[in-house]
Amino acid sequence: MHSKQNQLNAEGIRSALARWYSRHARDLPWRRTRDPYAIWISEVMLQQTRVAAVIPYYERFLTRFPDVAALAEASEPEVLALWSGLGYYSRARNLMQAARTIMDIGGAFPRDYAGLRKLSGIGDYTASAVASISFGLPHAVVDGNVKRVAMRLTNNAAADVAEVAGRLLDRKNPARSNQALMELGATVCLPRSPLCETCPVAKFCGARHQATVDQLPPPRVKPDAIHREHVLLIVRRRTGLLLVPSPRLSGFWDLPEPDAFGAAGNVRLGAVLGTFRHSITNSRYVFEVREARVRGTPAGGRWFNSGQLHEIALSTTARKALRVQAHVEQKP
Ligand code: SF4
Repeated sequence: MHSKQNQLNAEGIRSALARWYSRHARDLPWRRTRDPYAIWISEVMLQQTRVAAVIPYYERFLTRFPDVAALAEASEPEVLALWSGLGYYSRARNLMQAARTIMDIGGAFPRDYAGLRKLSGIGDYTASAVASISFGLPHAVVDGNVKRVAMRLTNNAAADVAEVAGRLLDRKNPARSNQALMELGATVCLPRSPLCETCPVAKFCGARHQATVDQLPPPRVKPDAIHREHVLLIVRRRTGLLLVPSPRLSGFWDLPEPDAFGAAGNVRLGAVLGTFRHSITNSRYVFEVREARVRGTPAGGRWFNSGQLHEIALSTTARKALRVQAHVEQKP
């Protein structure tokens, strides 16, 4: 394994990547700043989420919460409402927690890896990204893109990716170097059908030379999905739409399910409006959307008018269900 990794022409790769990145880097909003707060927000949003999806969220978030102090003072429902649709909501809660910690220790953003790493929700990746991009510190980032590129460059599925990333890091310009490697993975060394013909480091790439690109990284064995079926109820009165605290996602509102009303006699089910699918990590849900009339208001339930619906953190399942209903209403 080591002999393969030692063959890596780290210097050649570093300089080819630097040249390529300075010409081909995408112009993304968070690349126009070195503000650690903005870099941090972007890096957290980008975890598990595509760049195109993140951009509008990033811009709205930075407009509403332009600095750590503003975020530290925010209420959880407001932050979750701005995060609504991005998924993985623990990220938003950790951001708030970390912002409050920063204000508690004097308001200055930590300027080194160890200080960053202590903050809620900041792991090796985010600490390295902020330390290198905002402060120019020599910490190599390892994300999914870097892993894939490292395995392919070394032609080794068992490569010590952190070690390879460390060797590929340009210590004179860690910000550019880290972003270039991630950019290569995001735009050229793609998971499927990488663009080897136009790759700036093709001549240094072990997998390309050995024609093993398609085998790296090796396919993951996925655990069996768990399937669940649920019914979501659309209950309207003059006072608005009935919502309850989401059982799947704390801090969010969702449509009630029949068992929220206790005894079956409290719910009279109406028409089935449609169904939709929804996945959360390893669970695959099928939701049936039904109209219903109910007696009473379930625990924690509240009635919202249509204006209020835009201001609260509404779960993705509720939004999908309301789209199903709107679709039915539009039909002649
Ligand atoms: Fe990836 Fe192909 Fe470039 Fe190798 S040559 S780094 S496999 S895009």
